[in-house]
Amino acid sequence: MNKAVFLDRDGVITQDPPHYAHRIDQLKLIPKSADAIRLLNENGFKVVVVSNQSGVARGYYQEKDVEIYNSAMEKELEERGAYIDAIYYCPHYPEAKIEAYRMDCDCRKPKPGMLKRAEKDLDLDLKRSFLIGDKLIDVEAGYRAGCKTILVLTGHGNDESKKNATMNIKPKYVSKDLHTASQIINGTTRLHRFPQENMKMHDVKEMVEGKRYHDE
Ligand SMILES: [Mg+2]
Ligand SMILES: [Zn+2]
Repeated sequence: MNKAVFLDRDGVITQDPPHYAHRIDQLKLIPKSADAIRLLNENGFKVVVVSNQSGVARGYYQEKDVEIYNSAMEKELEERGAYIDAIYYCPHYPEAKIEAYRMDCDCRKPKPGMLKRAEKDLDLDLKRSFLIGDKLIDVEAGYRAGCKTILVLTGHGNDESKKNATMNIKPKYVSKDLHTASQIINGTTRLHRFPQENMKMHDVKEMVEGKRYHDE
């Protein structure tokens, strides 16, 4: 069985521009995300992208646009020696404008459907796998699939981490970005436990920068 790292796309690998990334001219890798993916490749992880793309259901763009965008992203990564093993996306939305996509599917995160599908397709051991996302719905999907979870502070991560007093499901680790997260997974950097209930954002920042370290 294989171990995997599931990655959200927007705000984790690539910048998350306003109004739903779907055109090639919006595509911009987050610094060092290619290095991070290469590191995961080298350490024997399957790298699997799991992305909510409700912009399809909302009528903002089509599935072919998602695929063109994904291919362009893969090409940019490959030029830097980084490979993605599989990409899954959910085009659905319960209140969709486009009827064909209007459903309460099992793949839209926080549901774990995309991860479960990858488990079968790629013979994954989810318990030895990780999920990295910039939103709590990503973290929840990873948690529900039985993976270890990391919230990154890129994309929406900064805002999302401020909700930590009210969140039901907390990430196991928090990290500055995908590159730091990949180092955590590969054991080359100290593990940052997610802060306790009453921790403030500046505490999180300090932890990420390594000024502060919480033992169990
Ligand atoms: Mg995201
Ligand atoms: Zn779906």
